[in-house]
Amino acid sequence: MNHPMKTRVIPHARASIGEEEIDAVVGTLRSGWLTGGPMVQAFEQAVSAYLGGPQAVSTNSNTMGLLITLKALGIGPGDEVIIPTNTFVATAMSAHHLGATVVPVDIDPHTLSLAPDQVAAALTPRSRCLLPVHLGGLPCDMEPLHALAARHGLRLVEDAAHALSASRGGEAVGAAHRSDATVFSFYATKTITCGEGGMVTTQNADLAARLRRLRHHGIDRDAFNRQESRSWDYDVVEDGYKANMTDIAAAIGLAQLRKLPALQARRQAIAHRYREAFAPLPLHLPAAPPAGDSHAWHLFIIRLRPEAPLDRDGFMLAMQRRGIQCGLHYIPLHRHSFWRQRLGLTPQAFPVAEEVFASSVTLPLYAAMSDDDVTYVIETVGDLLSC
Ligand SMILES: *Cc1c(COP(=O)(O)O)cnc(C)c1O
Repeated sequence: MNHPMKTRVIPHARASIGEEEIDAVVGTLRSGWLTGGPMVQAFEQAVSAYLGGPQAVSTNSNTMGLLITLKALGIGPGDEVIIPTNTFVATAMSAHHLGATVVPVDIDPHTLSLAPDQVAAALTPRSRCLLPVHLGGLPCDMEPLHALAARHGLRLVEDAAHALSASRGGEAVGAAHRSDATVFSFYATKTITCGEGGMVTTQNADLAARLRRLRHHGIDRDAFNRQESRSWDYDVVEDGYKANMTDIAAAIGLAQLRKLPALQARRQAIAHRYREAFAPLPLHLPAAPPAGDSHAWHLFIIRLRPEAPLDRDGFMLAMQRRGIQCGLHYIPLHRHSFWRQRLGLTPQAFPVAEEVFASSVTLPLYAAMSDDDVTYVIETVGDLLSC
């Protein structure tokens, strides 16, 4: 139990919260405007500016952002939404709760996200939407997905829960020039956090206006605008949800966004050290983006090779005994009882995801890691995996 080396504990993820975030929360509490107010507007404007100007609509989570986006795009019962099986359950639940049919497909062994040939094979006359995930912060190759969407008249919504600060082809993930919308998460472990929160970005102003209604019960004007005239007046024009962000969360998000370039540089530097140190070991490194593109490095997912001296479970246990907490991204959808039973899924239909699931481990990677922490992870992984 008391392993002599267990002198420290390195969590798998930790938010970088400082005095700026604490002051922002206190300032918001003192201001008296706790939700639907100026901090929410300021955070939306700041995210929009960071991404080069799309509409930005904040929500209380990525999950609800995805849900209201799919609803606003008209997706419902009878419609099929194609999702990589290797994702967090939220991606699938958002479509499921609208009555749509979730269609998990096998993944690309390189990006670990939607494989275009698997998407093509899964298309039916009921296919309505593609929902790729930028897994770990590596931007997906969107070209083949946009081509399929255009050819088959499909909607395209990007789950960018991991990907704030990633870019591809000179464009930020979330600039949303060719997709219908992109949805970010500000959950506690993500590249920046509000505690809980999400943001939908889109170039479509009508869609953005609809999202603002759908996040607030289908009411046509939000509380902030109502202050200006006829403060009592509103109209419910559709069946919306309660999915808006608080000013307290937005204040944290604003402070975090200001730090994002520094946080991102730190993540890049850690990923770079890992990549160099692990190159000789019996593992597959996470895919690097094409030159000129930028990886958000939310997750550093390694895959153990068959010749590694430990299997995945043995490796994770040995790391834990040395005080290093690893993650697993993800238990694929088709391995969860609910989806297996509801959709009649079998592992045989997902050979790539099965192989990835059996061998993958996510190492700690967060901006608050010290150089010593990184060295300790590198030395421990080297110890455990040197043959
Ligand atoms: C975290 C995450 C979500 C859900 O984000 P919330 O803000 O917690 O709702 C969705 N998709 C992926 C891939 C995630 O990692």
